[in-house]
Amino acid sequence: TIVLGIESSCDETAVAIVKNRKEVLSSVVASQIDVHKEFGGVVPEVASRIHVENISMVIDQALKKAGCTMEEIDAVAVTQGPGLVGCLHIGLQAAKTMAWTFHKPLVAVHHIAGHIFANEMVSDLQYPLLALVVSGGHTELVYLKDENSFEVLGETQDDAIGEAFDKVARVMGLPYPGGPQIDRLAKEGNNVYALAKPKTENPMDFSFSGLKSSVLQFQARCARRQENFVPADLACSFQETALEALLSRVTYALDHVSGIRHFVVAGGVAANSRLRTLITETIAPNYPQIRFTIPPLSCCTDNAAMIAIAGTIAYQHGRRSSFDIGAQPGMPLESE
Ligand code: ATP
Ligand code: MG
Ligand code: FE
Repeated sequence: TIVLGIESSCDETAVAIVKNRKEVLSSVVASQIDVHKEFGGVVPEVASRIHVENISMVIDQALKKAGCTMEEIDAVAVTQGPGLVGCLHIGLQAAKTMAWTFHKPLVAVHHIAGHIFANEMVSDLQYPLLALVVSGGHTELVYLKDENSFEVLGETQDDAIGEAFDKVARVMGLPYPGGPQIDRLAKEGNNVYALAKPKTENPMDFSFSGLKSSVLQFQARCARRQENFVPADLACSFQETALEALLSRVTYALDHVSGIRHFVVAGGVAANSRLRTLITETIAPNYPQIRFTIPPLSCCTDNAAMIAIAGTIAYQHGRRSSFDIGAQPGMPLESE
């Protein structure tokens, strides 16, 4: 099965062609980071306009790199949601056009299902599976009884973890996107500043806005008292506090949800080097009966290979989307 995937939910225009779920024939990502950097974040109106400018060229490149013609493609997969409505529309319109013109089935997928199935590139997924989704817009623990069912066990009550990384970086004067900057800076610092530890009622829910405010207050207090602080130490303290809270929920889930055979990490924050180390070195060894997978760095953040894989799985389960579907900016995962 060869599937062409299209992703445009946020600020990357991406198209990929994947064969039999695993073989990435091509994966082209046109990132808009340089444009949005000037504004310190994604400007939705600007993002949609750049998607329009780039999409045809990116589709073309993906087909050329794969050495593939549209005749060889079995289905066109596309992100229907969640994401920025104007951005989603561009990908959806392009996907419908390709599918219509070349008489191919259209398969709409959920962006987060894509992040989760990015792990197929490096591992045969075993079920029941537990996924830790950590991205710019999501922080959740998702249980998959099989590859066709999603149950959200816990989620953030306020900010997503990637959003918290980005906001903390922004107030520290680091460029957008801030996650990789904090990751880099934290390596040079120590966890010495006491920050607010996230608390939640449900042991599998998350919360990051209190921690974020605590970083802002710390900075404001230092400024008021004209005290210096070490930026690397602040980055490290924030990252350690955030990851400790994140991983305590993971441990709880691994201890309390029975029958899990595979644990995967998904989403842009899975690129965080400290998170990767903590999971492989301090968590995985305690659960020898569970397989642990973290996607390769290149497919943690938004790409279309993950959408093509999620599309292949949905296609193999018989999903065919109608041509009158619209973008779903708040699409629930459990509807997948
Ligand atoms: P969503 O997937 O929830 O719709 P999104 O698509 O905008 O959101 P992703 O592309 O999955 O998000 O991930 C981007 C996020 O990952 C940003 O918040 C970015 O700062 C964060 N990120 C990327 N690399 C790292 C890193 N090394 N450490 C921490 N955060 C990182
Ligand atoms: Mg992005
Ligand atoms: Fe994403």
